[in-house]
Amino acid sequence: MADDRIPKGLLITIDGPAGAGKSTVSKKLADILGYAYLDTGALYRALALSAQKNNLNPDKEEDLEKLCRKPAIDLTYNGGKLTVILAGEDVSEEIRTPEVSMLSSYISAKPMVRKSLLEMQRDIGKKGSVVAEGRDMGTVVFPDADVKFYLDASPEERASRRYKELLQKGNNLNYEQIRKEMLKRDADDSSRAVAPLIPAPDAIFVDSTDKSIDEVIAFMLAKIQEKAALKACLRAARKQV
Ligand code: C5P
Repeated sequence: MADDRIPKGLLITIDGPAGAGKSTVSKKLADILGYAYLDTGALYRALALSAQKNNLNPDKEEDLEKLCRKPAIDLTYNGGKLTVILAGEDVSEEIRTPEVSMLSSYISAKPMVRKSLLEMQRDIGKKGSVVAEGRDMGTVVFPDADVKFYLDASPEERASRRYKELLQKGNNLNYEQIRKEMLKRDADDSSRAVAPLIPAPDAIFVDSTDKSIDEVIAFMLAKIQEKAALKACLRAARKQV
């Protein structure tokens, strides 16, 4: 049942590092509000998988151009599950391996890659009623979003969440390796020249380290309601002038 205290049509962004809880929280928020869910990390992951499958070297100009030419990626979110289709094939699980995580971070620093995915993201966002998660949602892709969040947690907590998630999926990995790879990915994502991972100046900061998912959601819903009410007041005041 969608929460109707919050109006339809808003664009809500959630940025933050790996393992902060963005996906879980974004999906739940989208479900509660009856909004669409946009996982932009899945787009970068699908493109990385496409490079892997087609033996394309992202450091070669010609290969990079091939990779970025009209990426055939489709995302559908239904019943709490995101389905990612790449060139007609369901790759929803395949894009979640540690190798694809690292390659997606590597290719995401390339301006051509970012440009090739920008329009697709904006087309989805402009319809409104969207919860969009990623690294540059509030800064580059949707600078005019209605409500922006930056979700973080301590590196230990994030690594432990990612480790448990991968274990559940049957991956037999070492915690220290997960932690190192995650920290490298965050450092690379934060220090790249184009669209780095940084909080938008008007983002609401949320530290999820010691909070349950429900606590994070409750806090966000209160903030979204506050912002929506403020916008409605401003609109009404403008009409009276
Ligand atoms: O969010 P997720 O971990 O699935 O993202 C995978 C990678 O895609 C990130 O490490 C980041 O390098 C890249 N990404 C990005 N911009 C976004 C979303 C993801 O650069 N908006």
